[in-house]
Amino acid sequence: LPELAALADCEKRAAAVRTQLVEAQTAVADLDAEQRSLESDIDTVRQRADRDQRRMAATGVPAKETAGLQHEVVSLARRQGILEDELLELMEAREAADAQVVVFRASLEVIDVERKTAESARDQVLGEIIDTEGKLQLERDELSPTLPADLIALYNKIRQSSGVGAAMLRHRRCEGCHLELAGNELSVVRATKPEIVLRCENCRRILVRTNESGL
Ligand SMILES: [Zn+2]
Repeated sequence: LPELAALADCEKRAAAVRTQLVEAQTAVADLDAEQRSLESDIDTVRQRADRDQRRMAATGVPAKETAGLQHEVVSLARRQGILEDELLELMEAREAADAQVVVFRASLEVIDVERKTAESARDQVLGEIIDTEGKLQLERDELSPTLPADLIALYNKIRQSSGVGAAMLRHRRCEGCHLELAGNELSVVRATKPEIVLRCENCRRILVRTNESGL
């Protein structure tokens, strides 16, 4: 059924987007962890610089130590600048990953709506098939007792093996196997009385003759 194919397509697309969503969420979690680690590094550098500043402000610090501290403060400031640039890049990457999570979530919601529509279309078609089957079963139950028991038995036997017990002969063609009758076979069909049960030479189904059989 096309309705089943549409539903399978929805599920396939949803599975693909779910995979992308998990990847994006993993990226967000990884970036968060990197950001925490970087922030902790920046904090350490800042604390060290503060300590150096306090030491330099104290009285009685030897000039040689002050010079060393000044040198360290400059290098710590440079280090902090580099780390803060990295942090900025990380935050931008996290925003991009976050945006992807939002896109994939929205996409899943759209597919979910499509899936619900496809499900109700499938249920409707299946319901119609069940209704039709019920009606045909009723017609069959009414018709069966009016037909010879051996014909019904033959019909059921062929139906069990090939799915279709009887086929219309339309324009000289068996609608069971779609082969056209010709030559001797056609002559035999023409010569056979209507009350005799005919079978297709090719597929062995019961051949049903009507005004459309082209005989
Ligand atoms: Zn046939």
